[in-house]
Amino acid sequence: MEYFAGIDIGSTAVKVAVIDADRQILGSKVAKTGALVYKNAQEAFLSLLAEIGLKRKDITYLTTTGYGRKLFEDADETISEITANAIGAKQVGKPFGTIRTIINIGGQDSKAISLDEDGNVSNFAMNDRCAAGTGRFLDMAARNLEIETTDLGEFHYNAEGTPAAVNATCAVFAESEIIGLLGKGHGREEIVKGIHFSIAKRTIRLVKRVGIQELLYFDGGPALNKGLVASLEDELGKRLVIPEFPQVTTAFGAAIIGQESYQYEKEEQEQLSSETENQSLELAEQYKSTLDPKFSKTEGSTCGTDSCSSC
Ligand code: ADP
Repeated sequence: MEYFAGIDIGSTAVKVAVIDADRQILGSKVAKTGALVYKNAQEAFLSLLAEIGLKRKDITYLTTTGYGRKLFEDADETISEITANAIGAKQVGKPFGTIRTIINIGGQDSKAISLDEDGNVSNFAMNDRCAAGTGRFLDMAARNLEIETTDLGEFHYNAEGTPAAVNATCAVFAESEIIGLLGKGHGREEIVKGIHFSIAKRTIRLVKRVGIQELLYFDGGPALNKGLVASLEDELGKRLVIPEFPQVTTAFGAAIIGQESYQYEKEEQEQLSSETENQSLELAEQYKSTLDPKFSKTEGSTCGTDSCSSC
């Protein structure tokens, strides 16, 4: 059996996915990227392999993606996260229909990707210059509110009052704004809901740059935040396709690309060896015919027959 791995080395988290030749996911893992990027990525990879009972040598083809993709020197291929995200979303989204727009919010950037009818990337827009509207911003807000990032969704749904207006467009100013809102007695739930709406508005402005086309797929770590999902759907007036494991779509896409590359290389090699074999047979025939004209296979030749004047 052949296995393919995709590793997405993101700014905040390393994501690993292993698939078989039928593109079935055998397992996936999310770990912190941290400061020792390569070491942490390697550990996450090997620990997933151990969990699913595989060894490094069992991986036929390894593809890396994400901002730290070049650090993994023993990878067979590196690929941009836009392509890997698109391939992963196309495959995961299949049961829902044809995915045409991807919204990806990561740790330090957010992206909008437009796909054509065949699932190829036709356009994309990216915000990687400002932390506002990214996972890092949500992590910072959670820290200021003394809650866990993973609890943001619950706080959102527990808000009973009007969501607090969070207007700052810069993460640094938003931090002061959140502290100011707490000082004025606003509840944490209403502040969380206000933050989600502010991120949703900012994200939709980005998506409009590539055009909003059905079906819309939302992934990246913050897609695990149900409050943010609800805010995006409210602001868009549309439902989003949210995969079961939104953080690993890109790693999964990388593994699929690896499987395709491997298949392509294998077929090329097979074709090349059959061409080489044919050429060798032809050369052997030609050689034989120079030794004994009776072996000549030249079309229409009378050599070797009674009508041949040289025989
Ligand atoms: P990157 O690829 O840039 O490392 P990710 O797509 O892995 O980014 O997203 C990381 C972000 O996802 C974190 O900063 C955090 O805000 C968010 N996140 C991760 N897990 C959860 C969760 N369970 N609930 C809510 N948010 C989460």
